[in-house]
Amino acid sequence: MVSRVIPVDAFDLVIFGGTGDLAKRKILPGLYRRFLQGQMTEDSRIIGAARADLDDAGFRQMVAEAIEEFVPENRRDAAVIAAFLEKISYISIDALGVTGWDRLKAAVRPDMVRAFYFSVAPSLFGDIAERLHTHGIAHAESRIVVEKPFGRDLASAKALNAVLAKHFNEAQIYRIDHYLGKETVQNLMAVRFANILFEPLWKAEYVDHVQITVAETVSVEGRGAYYDKSGAMRDMVQNHMMQLLCLIAMEPPYHFDPDAVRDEKLKVIRALSPVQPDDIVRGQYRAGNGEGGYLEHCEDANSKTESYIALKTTVSNWRWQGTPFYLRTGKRLRARASEIAITFKQPPHAIFDNESGWHENVLVIRLQPDEGMNLMVMIKEPGPGGMRMMQVPLDMSFAEALGDEAEDVPDAYERLIMDVIRGNQTLFMRGDEVESAWAWTDPIIQGWEARGDKPQAYDAGSSGPEDALMLMHRDGRRWREIKK
Ligand code: NAP
Repeated sequence: MVSRVIPVDAFDLVIFGGTGDLAKRKILPGLYRRFLQGQMTEDSRIIGAARADLDDAGFRQMVAEAIEEFVPENRRDAAVIAAFLEKISYISIDALGVTGWDRLKAAVRPDMVRAFYFSVAPSLFGDIAERLHTHGIAHAESRIVVEKPFGRDLASAKALNAVLAKHFNEAQIYRIDHYLGKETVQNLMAVRFANILFEPLWKAEYVDHVQITVAETVSVEGRGAYYDKSGAMRDMVQNHMMQLLCLIAMEPPYHFDPDAVRDEKLKVIRALSPVQPDDIVRGQYRAGNGEGGYLEHCEDANSKTESYIALKTTVSNWRWQGTPFYLRTGKRLRARASEIAITFKQPPHAIFDNESGWHENVLVIRLQPDEGMNLMVMIKEPGPGGMRMMQVPLDMSFAEALGDEAEDVPDAYERLIMDVIRGNQTLFMRGDEVESAWAWTDPIIQGWEARGDKPQAYDAGSSGPEDALMLMHRDGRRWREIKK
């Protein structure tokens, strides 16, 4: 299979926070890979901006080291790296100061796509946006890219939106949720809307329930104090898992067009029911296997912040009346595994004997570790011995389907940055989506804060707290096993 790489228009991309962790791990290595693939053209330029006192050579050295560390060896080509580094320069700028801005103004070129990546703390967004305007660096076509967290509640998200809206209109603002850039997540839309097979069954009449799992093995050690201010609900559910839920539950948009898709996602968020206290389980991992527990890692022995959450919610509309959506995510769990599983109902009438056995049809969409899809179907167990049924997977692993080319599938950040340059906002969150997501999240958090709920302890390397199992057992259902 030969994948087509369509070069994007030449651009000037300014990365505020160009020396930071995200720039080094994701943005710059991702741009290198797009350059290697021929998608970023020769006449494009990348400008790093931060306070550090570096010259072009010093910054290029930093970028070269980031490529060395974060790009696999078989995709590192010395000549291509050298050519890529030539496209890169650096300007020392303090977002809160006055120096450097004139140099930046002189560095950006007319008639190029102009984009500014705000890879800095959200508290700096307003100052950068304002200075880009007062110095005449941003024009009506310029785009800005902003990172999570987009607020920590509805009020702060509204304030951030207002700060950006002072200088940029919604069509210029690209709010990144890197889950939306994952190949499988986009494939979810392809499977739903490019096939006739699934859509007729995609409703409460046929779908028993939906499970969304984002399980991590990592702890919060090293960034516990920071994590403790957010917790799993704010860090994962309000943004990434909400986006996944939207893609499953949304109505078909009239066209694959940014606002048509985002309008449909927004309707889902608005239709989410409030979550009852009994439908939420929060947890904190214990010390174990020689490693500290959450309370040590967050450096607050009395912390009530959750490193795990499981909840049940419903989408209150005609399509989903009666189909629960179960969400769970946590740190220090048994395996690193993220998936969406859509479990279908039993056939209305059983023609085979009971001993034939019966399992549900399940469509599993794997986001990590190996992206792909799996449809569990019933077939007859081969051989004599009567009509015994067995469950087998119709498996589509992207790595298998694409062979060697799987390594060249852009990772989420690469794809999203190219979408910014193309001016395509489909995979970015609109301001009203983010605000609606917080409007659903806020009362849930306020509820457990008001009740003084404490998270349950769970063993490191387990599937989470016991009560999370009960959340499903009492509905006669069970979580899928968390496995690699
Ligand atoms: P970081 O490692 O702390 O880097 C922050 C960057 O901002 C540095 O380049 C820093 O350089 C620059 N900076 C700080 N103050 C500045 C100022 N006054 N003027 C100009 N530049 C300034 O942070 P990060 O992890 O890269 O995160 C950046 C953003 O991405 C944050 O909003 C974060 O929430 C978000 N994010 C990060 C990740 C991740 O994996 N790292 C994932 C998702 C979202 P100087 O100190 O030299 O100025």
